[in-house]
Amino acid sequence: MSEDAEGLSRQVRTWYGLPGEIVIEGDYWHLVRVGSFPLPHPPLVNLFIRRGLPQEERYRLSYWHELGHLQTLPLAVAHVLWLWRHGPASRPRPLGKRLVRLAAALLVHQAAWELAAESYVAGRAGRTYRRLYRRHPNPFLLLFWAGMAGITLLGTLLLGRRRTPL
Ligand SMILES: [Zn+2]
Repeated sequence: MSEDAEGLSRQVRTWYGLPGEIVIEGDYWHLVRVGSFPLPHPPLVNLFIRRGLPQEERYRLSYWHELGHLQTLPLAVAHVLWLWRHGPASRPRPLGKRLVRLAAALLVHQAAWELAAESYVAGRAGRTYRRLYRRHPNPFLLLFWAGMAGITLLGTLLLGRRRTPL
């Protein structure tokens, strides 16, 4: 485990036993290693919703967000299976509609997983989460919560309905 001004790197093990590593290299690059499988990526959500926080808090909350993705992976898998069952594979459709439903399902799934990961952060930080953002207001935070919750709820409901425009 290490933490300094350059970033933060930790070996982790999820509650269901999956080993991994999370490297917060700075504001613009994160690496999550699941077992030996590396998933380097630009941290889009963390970049926007950590704006204005002190660096130490930015890195800590960003680390928890990435850990939140791993901790909520079983929930994300259950959600994607449910979407698949009710979404693109639910009944025969023309290829164009199937592709649109697949894109919609991927968007809804990503929103749900972002929501789950950030809920993990908020739960783990407790009162500090609200206190931090009260002290360092960030307009993207409300947009994130409202947007992700809206996309998740509406998208999941719409994709699950038997009769949808898609
Ligand atoms: Zn995320």
